[in-house]
Amino acid sequence: MNNPFENAMEQLDKVAKIKNFNPEFISRFRQPDRDIKISIPVKMDDGTLKIFEGYRVEYNNALGPYKGGIRYHHDTEINEVKALAFWMTIKCAVAGIPMGGGKGGITVDPKTLSKGELEKLSRGWVKRLADILGPKKDVPAPDVNTTPEIMDWMADEYEKITGDATRATFTGKPLGRGGSEGRGPATGLGGFYVFDSLRAQLNLPEKCTVAVQGFGNVGLNAAQIFIAHGHSVVAISDSKGGVYNPQGLDIEKLIEHKKSTGSLSGFSGSKDLTNEELLETECDVLVPAAFENQIIENNADKLHTKVILELANGPINPAADEILFKKGVPIIPDVLANSGGVTVSCFEWEQNLKGENWSEKEVFEKLQPMMHDAAQKVFENGKKYSTDLRRGAFILALERIEEKMN
Ligand code: NAD
Repeated sequence: MNNPFENAMEQLDKVAKIKNFNPEFISRFRQPDRDIKISIPVKMDDGTLKIFEGYRVEYNNALGPYKGGIRYHHDTEINEVKALAFWMTIKCAVAGIPMGGGKGGITVDPKTLSKGELEKLSRGWVKRLADILGPKKDVPAPDVNTTPEIMDWMADEYEKITGDATRATFTGKPLGRGGSEGRGPATGLGGFYVFDSLRAQLNLPEKCTVAVQGFGNVGLNAAQIFIAHGHSVVAISDSKGGVYNPQGLDIEKLIEHKKSTGSLSGFSGSKDLTNEELLETECDVLVPAAFENQIIENNADKLHTKVILELANGPINPAADEILFKKGVPIIPDVLANSGGVTVSCFEWEQNLKGENWSEKEVFEKLQPMMHDAAQKVFENGKKYSTDLRRGAFILALERIEEKMN
Protein backbone atom coordinates (compact mmCIF):
# COMPACT_ATOMS: atom_id res chain seq x y z
CA MET A 1 0.00 0.00 0.00
CA ASN A 2 1.24 3.47 -0.87
CA ASN A 3 1.74 5.78 2.05
CA PRO A 4 -0.57 8.67 1.05
CA PHE A 5 1.55 11.21 2.90
CA GLU A 6 4.60 10.12 0.90
CA ASN A 7 2.55 10.59 -2.31
CA ALA A 8 1.63 14.08 -1.15
CA MET A 9 5.27 14.91 -0.44
CA GLU A 10 6.21 13.59 -3.90
CA GLN A 11 3.74 16.08 -5.39
CA LEU A 12 5.25 18.86 -3.29
CA ASP A 13 8.79 17.99 -4.40
CA LYS A 14 7.78 17.98 -8.07
CA VAL A 15 6.31 21.45 -7.72
CA ALA A 16 9.33 22.74 -5.81
CA LYS A 17 11.43 21.74 -8.83
CA ILE A 18 9.33 23.84 -11.22
CA LYS A 19 9.31 27.04 -9.21
CA ASN A 20 12.11 28.00 -6.88
CA PHE A 21 10.36 28.36 -3.57
CA ASN A 22 12.50 29.19 -0.57
CA PRO A 23 13.90 25.79 0.59
CA GLU A 24 13.25 26.74 4.22
CA PHE A 25 9.57 27.28 3.39
CA ILE A 26 9.39 23.90 1.66
CA SER A 27 11.08 22.16 4.65
CA ARG A 28 8.59 23.76 7.03
CA PHE A 29 5.72 22.83 4.73
CA ARG A 30 6.80 19.18 4.69
CA GLN A 31 5.56 18.86 8.29
CA PRO A 32 2.15 19.58 9.77
CA ASP A 33 2.07 22.21 12.52
CA ARG A 34 0.78 19.48 14.79
CA ASP A 35 -0.58 15.97 14.55
CA ILE A 36 -2.52 14.63 17.45
CA LYS A 37 -3.55 11.08 18.27
CA ILE A 38 -6.22 10.62 20.92
CA SER A 39 -7.97 7.75 22.63
CA ILE A 40 -11.72 7.95 23.05
CA PRO A 41 -13.37 5.69 25.62
CA VAL A 42 -16.97 4.74 24.84
CA LYS A 43 -19.31 2.76 27.07
CA MET A 44 -20.97 0.40 24.58
CA ASP A 45 -24.63 -0.65 24.68
CA ASP A 46 -23.68 -4.06 26.15
CA GLY A 47 -21.97 -2.35 29.09
CA THR A 48 -18.36 -2.98 27.97
CA LEU A 49 -15.83 -0.18 27.55
CA LYS A 50 -14.22 0.20 24.15
CA ILE A 51 -11.32 2.54 23.38
CA PHE A 52 -11.22 4.09 19.88
CA GLU A 53 -8.27 5.84 18.25
CA GLY A 54 -8.89 9.32 16.87
CA TYR A 55 -6.84 12.01 15.18
CA ARG A 56 -6.62 15.68 14.34
CA VAL A 57 -3.91 17.00 12.09
CA GLU A 58 -3.49 20.76 11.97
CA TYR A 59 -1.37 21.17 8.89
CA ASN A 60 -0.96 24.89 8.31
CA ASN A 61 -2.83 28.02 9.38
CA ALA A 62 -0.96 30.75 7.51
CA LEU A 63 -4.15 31.77 5.67
CA GLY A 64 -6.67 31.28 8.49
CA PRO A 65 -8.01 28.72 10.99
CA TYR A 66 -7.30 25.08 10.23
CA LYS A 67 -10.20 23.68 8.17
CA GLY A 68 -11.01 20.12 7.17
CA GLY A 69 -13.34 17.20 7.63
CA ILE A 70 -13.48 14.32 10.10
CA ARG A 71 -13.47 10.84 8.56
CA TYR A 72 -14.88 7.70 10.22
CA HIS A 73 -13.41 4.63 8.52
CA HIS A 74 -11.91 1.33 9.61
CA ASP A 75 -8.80 2.01 7.47
CA THR A 76 -8.27 5.58 8.69
CA GLU A 77 -4.78 6.08 10.12
CA ILE A 78 -2.48 8.99 10.81
CA ASN A 79 -0.63 9.05 7.44
CA GLU A 80 -3.90 9.24 5.56
CA VAL A 81 -5.12 12.06 7.81
CA LYS A 82 -1.81 13.93 7.39
CA ALA A 83 -2.04 13.66 3.59
CA LEU A 84 -5.66 14.82 3.57
CA ALA A 85 -4.77 17.75 5.86
CA PHE A 86 -1.97 18.74 3.46
CA TRP A 87 -4.35 18.63 0.47
CA MET A 88 -6.93 20.69 2.40
CA THR A 89 -4.28 23.35 2.97
CA ILE A 90 -3.61 23.46 -0.77
CA LYS A 91 -7.34 23.42 -1.62
CA CYS A 92 -8.30 26.30 0.68
CA ALA A 93 -5.41 28.36 -0.67
CA VAL A 94 -6.40 27.64 -4.31
CA ALA A 95 -10.01 28.60 -3.58
CA GLY A 96 -8.85 31.88 -2.07
CA ILE A 97 -10.73 31.44 1.23
CA PRO A 98 -9.33 32.66 4.58
CA MET A 99 -8.75 29.14 5.89
CA GLY A 100 -5.77 26.90 6.53
CA GLY A 101 -5.81 23.12 6.29
CA GLY A 102 -6.53 20.30 8.70
CA LYS A 103 -8.20 16.91 8.85
CA GLY A 104 -9.45 14.55 11.50
CA GLY A 105 -10.65 11.02 11.86
CA ILE A 106 -11.50 8.02 13.96
CA THR A 107 -10.54 4.44 13.13
CA VAL A 108 -14.00 2.90 13.19
CA ASP A 109 -16.56 1.30 10.93
CA PRO A 110 -19.58 3.38 11.95
CA LYS A 111 -21.98 0.74 10.58
CA THR A 112 -20.98 -1.50 13.51
CA LEU A 113 -22.19 1.07 16.08
CA SER A 114 -25.66 1.86 17.34
CA LYS A 115 -26.81 5.47 16.99
CA GLY A 116 -26.22 6.05 20.72
CA GLU A 117 -22.66 4.67 20.52
CA LEU A 118 -21.96 6.83 17.46
CA GLU A 119 -23.15 9.92 19.32
CA LYS A 120 -20.98 9.12 22.38
CA LEU A 121 -17.97 8.53 20.13
CA SER A 122 -18.51 11.83 18.28
CA ARG A 123 -18.95 13.79 21.50
CA GLY A 124 -15.86 12.00 22.88
CA TRP A 125 -13.76 13.25 19.94
CA VAL A 126 -14.80 16.81 20.78
CA LYS A 127 -14.14 16.38 24.56
CA ARG A 128 -10.55 15.34 23.86
CA LEU A 129 -9.90 18.14 21.36
CA ALA A 130 -12.02 21.08 22.55
CA ASP A 131 -8.92 23.02 23.66
CA ILE A 132 -7.51 23.25 20.16
CA LEU A 133 -10.80 23.77 18.30
CA GLY A 134 -12.66 27.06 17.85
CA PRO A 135 -13.97 29.46 15.20
CA LYS A 136 -10.63 31.29 15.05
CA LYS A 137 -8.49 28.19 15.66
CA ASP A 138 -9.69 25.00 13.97
CA VAL A 139 -13.00 24.41 12.19
CA PRO A 140 -13.83 20.76 11.34
CA ALA A 141 -16.47 19.54 8.87
CA PRO A 142 -18.00 16.27 7.66
CA ASP A 143 -16.05 13.84 5.47
CA VAL A 144 -16.45 10.15 4.66
CA ASN A 145 -19.18 8.62 6.89
CA THR A 146 -19.76 11.76 8.96
CA THR A 147 -23.08 13.53 8.53
CA PRO A 148 -24.81 16.85 9.31
CA GLU A 149 -26.33 15.13 12.36
CA ILE A 150 -22.86 14.21 13.66
CA MET A 151 -21.74 17.83 13.13
CA ASP A 152 -24.78 18.95 15.11
CA TRP A 153 -23.80 16.67 18.08
CA MET A 154 -20.24 17.95 17.87
CA ALA A 155 -21.27 21.63 17.76
CA ASP A 156 -23.54 20.99 20.75
CA GLU A 157 -20.77 19.27 22.73
CA TYR A 158 -18.36 22.11 21.93
CA GLU A 159 -20.90 24.66 23.14
CA LYS A 160 -21.44 22.69 26.40
CA ILE A 161 -17.70 22.59 27.10
CA THR A 162 -16.72 26.12 26.09
CA GLY A 163 -19.92 28.18 26.23
CA ASP A 164 -19.30 29.36 22.65
CA ALA A 165 -22.77 29.59 21.12
CA THR A 166 -21.79 30.84 17.64
CA ARG A 167 -21.87 27.25 16.24
CA ALA A 168 -19.06 28.43 13.95
CA THR A 169 -16.59 25.74 15.10
CA PHE A 170 -18.18 23.01 12.96
CA THR A 171 -19.51 23.36 9.41
CA GLY A 172 -21.77 21.04 7.44
CA LYS A 173 -24.48 21.35 10.10
CA PRO A 174 -28.14 20.74 9.25
CA LEU A 175 -30.24 23.63 7.93
CA GLY A 176 -31.94 25.37 10.83
CA ARG A 177 -29.06 24.30 13.13
CA GLY A 178 -26.51 26.74 11.70
CA GLY A 179 -26.00 25.05 8.32
CA SER A 180 -25.81 27.02 5.08
CA GLU A 181 -28.23 27.00 2.18
CA GLY A 182 -26.58 25.61 -0.95
CA ARG A 183 -24.06 23.32 0.82
CA GLY A 184 -25.65 20.18 -0.71
CA PRO A 185 -24.98 20.95 -4.37
CA ALA A 186 -21.92 23.18 -3.67
CA THR A 187 -19.22 20.71 -4.71
CA GLY A 188 -20.91 19.68 -7.96
CA LEU A 189 -21.88 23.25 -8.76
CA GLY A 190 -18.41 24.62 -7.95
CA GLY A 191 -16.97 21.95 -10.26
CA PHE A 192 -19.32 23.03 -13.00
CA TYR A 193 -18.33 26.71 -12.57
CA VAL A 194 -14.66 25.73 -12.85
CA PHE A 195 -15.36 23.67 -15.98
CA ASP A 196 -17.43 26.49 -17.50
CA SER A 197 -14.69 29.01 -16.85
CA LEU A 198 -12.06 26.83 -18.60
CA ARG A 199 -14.19 25.19 -21.31
CA ALA A 200 -13.15 27.39 -24.24
CA GLN A 201 -9.49 27.52 -23.15
CA LEU A 202 -9.44 23.71 -23.09
CA ASN A 203 -10.86 23.67 -26.65
CA LEU A 204 -14.06 21.95 -25.66
CA PRO A 205 -17.26 22.41 -27.67
CA GLU A 206 -20.09 24.64 -26.41
CA LYS A 207 -22.23 21.57 -25.73
CA CYS A 208 -20.20 18.71 -24.30
CA THR A 209 -20.81 15.02 -23.81
CA VAL A 210 -20.10 14.05 -20.20
CA ALA A 211 -19.50 10.71 -18.43
CA VAL A 212 -19.86 10.71 -14.65
CA GLN A 213 -18.53 8.05 -12.25
CA GLY A 214 -20.55 8.23 -9.05
CA PHE A 215 -24.25 8.68 -8.33
CA GLY A 216 -23.94 10.22 -4.85
CA ASN A 217 -24.02 13.79 -3.61
CA VAL A 218 -21.29 15.05 -5.93
CA GLY A 219 -21.83 12.92 -9.06
CA LEU A 220 -25.59 13.27 -9.15
CA ASN A 221 -25.59 17.01 -8.51
CA ALA A 222 -22.91 17.49 -11.15
CA ALA A 223 -24.87 15.45 -13.71
CA GLN A 224 -28.04 17.47 -13.06
CA ILE A 225 -26.16 20.77 -13.30
CA PHE A 226 -24.37 19.84 -16.55
CA ILE A 227 -27.72 18.88 -18.11
CA ALA A 228 -29.42 22.07 -16.84
CA HIS A 229 -26.72 24.01 -18.74
CA GLY A 230 -27.39 22.21 -22.03
CA HIS A 231 -24.67 19.55 -21.90
CA SER A 232 -25.41 15.88 -22.38
CA VAL A 233 -24.64 13.19 -19.79
CA VAL A 234 -24.06 10.07 -21.89
CA ALA A 235 -22.95 7.72 -19.08
CA ILE A 236 -23.18 7.50 -15.31
CA SER A 237 -22.45 4.80 -12.73
CA ASP A 238 -22.67 3.86 -9.07
CA SER A 239 -20.64 1.22 -7.22
CA LYS A 240 -22.55 -1.62 -8.95
CA GLY A 241 -22.11 -0.35 -12.54
CA GLY A 242 -23.63 2.18 -14.90
CA VAL A 243 -25.64 2.99 -17.98
CA TYR A 244 -24.85 4.54 -21.36
CA ASN A 245 -26.91 6.37 -23.95
CA PRO A 246 -25.06 8.32 -26.66
CA GLN A 247 -28.16 10.55 -27.09
CA GLY A 248 -27.96 11.64 -23.43
CA LEU A 249 -29.55 10.13 -20.31
CA ASP A 250 -32.70 11.47 -18.68
CA ILE A 251 -31.30 11.76 -15.13
CA GLU A 252 -34.62 12.49 -13.41
CA LYS A 253 -36.12 9.31 -14.89
CA LEU A 254 -32.94 7.41 -13.98
CA ILE A 255 -33.30 8.51 -10.33
CA GLU A 256 -36.85 7.11 -10.36
CA HIS A 257 -35.60 3.89 -12.00
CA LYS A 258 -32.93 3.43 -9.30
CA LYS A 259 -35.49 4.12 -6.57
CA SER A 260 -37.87 1.50 -7.89
CA THR A 261 -35.36 -1.22 -8.89
CA GLY A 262 -32.46 -0.51 -6.53
CA SER A 263 -29.98 -0.27 -9.39
CA LEU A 264 -29.09 1.76 -12.48
CA SER A 265 -28.97 -1.25 -14.78
CA GLY A 266 -31.81 -2.07 -17.15
CA PHE A 267 -32.74 1.58 -17.67
CA SER A 268 -34.94 1.91 -20.73
CA GLY A 269 -33.18 3.11 -23.92
CA SER A 270 -29.70 2.71 -22.46
CA LYS A 271 -26.98 0.07 -22.42
CA ASP A 272 -25.54 -1.31 -19.17
CA LEU A 273 -21.86 -0.60 -18.46
CA THR A 274 -19.29 -1.84 -15.99
CA ASN A 275 -17.35 0.81 -14.08
CA GLU A 276 -14.26 0.02 -16.18
CA GLU A 277 -16.28 0.63 -19.36
CA LEU A 278 -17.67 3.87 -17.96
CA LEU A 279 -14.17 5.26 -17.53
CA GLU A 280 -13.36 4.28 -21.13
CA THR A 281 -16.51 5.92 -22.60
CA GLU A 282 -15.92 8.25 -25.53
CA CYS A 283 -16.83 11.73 -24.26
CA ASP A 284 -15.65 15.33 -24.04
CA VAL A 285 -15.47 15.41 -20.24
CA LEU A 286 -14.94 12.52 -17.83
CA VAL A 287 -16.01 13.30 -14.26
CA PRO A 288 -14.71 10.87 -11.62
CA ALA A 289 -16.97 11.67 -8.66
CA ALA A 290 -16.82 8.49 -6.59
CA PHE A 291 -13.60 7.36 -4.95
CA GLU A 292 -9.83 7.65 -4.97
CA ASN A 293 -7.44 5.72 -7.27
CA GLN A 294 -9.95 4.91 -10.03
CA ILE A 295 -7.66 5.93 -12.90
CA ILE A 296 -4.30 4.22 -12.53
CA GLU A 297 -1.41 3.10 -14.74
CA ASN A 298 -3.43 0.05 -15.94
CA ASN A 299 -6.31 2.02 -17.46
CA ALA A 300 -4.99 5.56 -18.05
CA ASP A 301 -4.12 4.67 -21.66
CA LYS A 302 -7.61 3.36 -22.37
CA LEU A 303 -9.56 6.55 -21.71
CA HIS A 304 -11.37 8.27 -24.59
CA THR A 305 -12.02 11.66 -23.08
CA LYS A 306 -10.72 15.11 -23.99
CA VAL A 307 -10.64 16.47 -20.43
CA ILE A 308 -11.00 15.08 -16.88
CA LEU A 309 -12.79 17.04 -14.17
CA GLU A 310 -11.70 15.53 -10.84
CA LEU A 311 -14.63 15.97 -8.48
CA ALA A 312 -13.63 13.05 -6.22
CA ASN A 313 -10.54 13.43 -4.05
CA GLY A 314 -7.50 11.71 -5.56
CA PRO A 315 -9.26 9.69 -8.31
CA ILE A 316 -6.08 9.62 -10.45
CA ASN A 317 -2.86 8.17 -9.04
CA PRO A 318 0.52 9.85 -9.74
CA ALA A 319 1.57 7.26 -12.37
CA ALA A 320 -1.67 7.77 -14.35
CA ASP A 321 -1.24 11.51 -13.99
CA GLU A 322 2.09 11.30 -15.85
CA ILE A 323 0.61 9.08 -18.60
CA LEU A 324 -2.29 11.48 -19.18
CA PHE A 325 0.00 14.53 -19.14
CA LYS A 326 2.14 12.93 -21.87
CA LYS A 327 -0.99 12.06 -23.85
CA GLY A 328 -2.09 15.71 -23.60
CA VAL A 329 -5.32 15.04 -21.67
CA PRO A 330 -5.85 18.03 -19.36
CA ILE A 331 -6.89 17.18 -15.80
CA ILE A 332 -8.77 19.82 -13.85
CA PRO A 333 -7.40 18.79 -10.44
CA ASP A 334 -9.41 17.99 -7.30
CA VAL A 335 -7.86 20.82 -5.27
CA LEU A 336 -9.51 23.22 -7.74
CA ALA A 337 -12.46 21.26 -9.16
CA ASN A 338 -14.07 20.20 -5.86
CA SER A 339 -13.17 23.29 -3.83
CA GLY A 340 -16.76 24.60 -4.08
CA GLY A 341 -17.64 22.40 -1.08
CA VAL A 342 -15.13 23.92 1.32
CA THR A 343 -15.86 27.39 -0.05
CA VAL A 344 -19.53 27.11 0.95
CA SER A 345 -18.41 25.63 4.30
CA CYS A 346 -16.40 28.80 4.74
CA PHE A 347 -19.56 30.80 3.92
CA GLU A 348 -21.36 28.83 6.67
CA TRP A 349 -18.63 29.77 9.18
CA GLU A 350 -18.89 33.43 8.11
CA GLN A 351 -22.70 33.43 8.42
CA ASN A 352 -22.48 31.86 11.92
CA LEU A 353 -19.93 34.44 13.08
CA LYS A 354 -21.99 37.36 11.70
CA GLY A 355 -25.34 35.89 12.78
CA GLU A 356 -26.59 35.99 9.16
CA ASN A 357 -28.54 33.59 6.91
CA TRP A 358 -27.80 33.89 3.20
CA SER A 359 -30.26 32.60 0.60
CA GLU A 360 -29.20 29.84 -1.80
CA LYS A 361 -29.13 32.45 -4.58
CA GLU A 362 -26.73 34.65 -2.58
CA VAL A 363 -24.51 31.65 -1.84
CA PHE A 364 -24.28 30.69 -5.52
CA GLU A 365 -23.70 34.29 -6.59
CA LYS A 366 -20.73 34.49 -4.21
CA LEU A 367 -19.40 31.06 -5.23
CA GLN A 368 -19.36 31.55 -9.01
CA PRO A 369 -16.81 34.43 -9.26
CA MET A 370 -14.52 32.74 -6.72
CA MET A 371 -14.44 29.51 -8.72
CA HIS A 372 -13.89 31.45 -11.96
CA ASP A 373 -11.03 33.45 -10.45
CA ALA A 374 -9.33 30.32 -9.04
CA ALA A 375 -9.73 28.46 -12.35
CA GLN A 376 -8.21 31.29 -14.36
CA LYS A 377 -5.25 31.73 -12.00
CA VAL A 378 -4.53 27.99 -12.12
CA PHE A 379 -4.75 28.01 -15.92
CA GLU A 380 -2.38 31.01 -16.16
CA ASN A 381 0.15 29.21 -13.92
CA GLY A 382 -0.07 26.09 -16.08
CA LYS A 383 0.86 28.20 -19.12
CA LYS A 384 3.45 30.32 -17.34
CA TYR A 385 5.37 27.29 -15.99
CA SER A 386 4.62 24.99 -18.99
CA THR A 387 3.13 22.43 -16.68
CA ASP A 388 -0.17 20.72 -15.95
CA LEU A 389 -3.10 22.26 -14.09
CA ARG A 390 -2.39 20.25 -10.92
CA ARG A 391 1.07 21.73 -10.59
CA GLY A 392 -0.35 25.11 -11.63
CA ALA A 393 -2.78 24.85 -8.72
CA PHE A 394 -0.08 23.80 -6.25
CA ILE A 395 2.11 26.73 -7.32
CA LEU A 396 -0.79 29.17 -6.80
CA ALA A 397 -1.44 27.73 -3.32
CA LEU A 398 2.20 27.65 -2.26
CA GLU A 399 2.74 31.24 -3.40
CA ARG A 400 -0.21 32.38 -1.29
CA ILE A 401 0.90 30.38 1.77
CA GLU A 402 4.58 31.34 1.50
CA GLU A 403 3.69 35.03 1.33
CA LYS A 404 1.83 34.79 4.66
CA MET A 405 4.46 32.61 6.35
CA ASN A 406 7.30 35.06 5.68
P1 NAD B 1 -21.35 9.71 -1.77
O1 NAD B 1 -21.11 8.66 -0.76
O2 NAD B 1 -22.57 10.56 -1.69
O3 NAD B 1 -21.36 9.07 -3.25
C1 NAD B 1 -20.38 8.23 -3.74
C2 NAD B 1 -20.92 7.55 -4.99
O4 NAD B 1 -19.87 6.79 -5.57
C3 NAD B 1 -22.06 6.57 -4.75
O5 NAD B 1 -23.00 6.70 -5.80
C4 NAD B 1 -21.40 5.20 -4.83
O6 NAD B 1 -22.29 4.20 -5.26
C5 NAD B 1 -20.37 5.49 -5.88
N1 NAD B 1 -19.23 4.58 -5.89
C6 NAD B 1 -18.53 4.08 -4.86
N2 NAD B 1 -17.54 3.27 -5.32
C7 NAD B 1 -17.62 3.33 -6.67
C8 NAD B 1 -16.88 2.73 -7.71
N3 NAD B 1 -15.84 1.94 -7.46
N4 NAD B 1 -17.24 3.03 -8.97
C9 NAD B 1 -18.29 3.84 -9.21
N5 NAD B 1 -19.02 4.41 -8.30
C10 NAD B 1 -18.69 4.16 -7.03
O7 NAD B 1 -20.03 10.60 -1.75
P2 NAD B 1 -19.85 12.10 -2.29
O8 NAD B 1 -20.06 13.05 -1.18
O9 NAD B 1 -20.60 12.25 -3.57
O10 NAD B 1 -18.26 12.12 -2.57
C11 NAD B 1 -17.72 11.59 -3.78
C12 NAD B 1 -16.27 12.03 -3.88
O11 NAD B 1 -16.19 13.45 -3.84
C13 NAD B 1 -15.35 11.56 -2.73
O12 NAD B 1 -14.07 11.34 -3.27
C14 NAD B 1 -15.31 12.75 -1.80
O13 NAD B 1 -14.13 12.76 -1.00
C15 NAD B 1 -15.30 13.87 -2.83
N6 NAD B 1 -15.71 15.17 -2.30
C16 NAD B 1 -16.95 15.34 -1.77
C17 NAD B 1 -17.33 16.59 -1.31
C18 NAD B 1 -18.74 16.83 -0.81
O14 NAD B 1 -19.07 18.01 -0.62
N7 NAD B 1 -19.56 15.82 -0.64
C19 NAD B 1 -16.42 17.65 -1.33
C20 NAD B 1 -15.15 17.46 -1.87
C21 NAD B 1 -14.82 16.21 -2.35
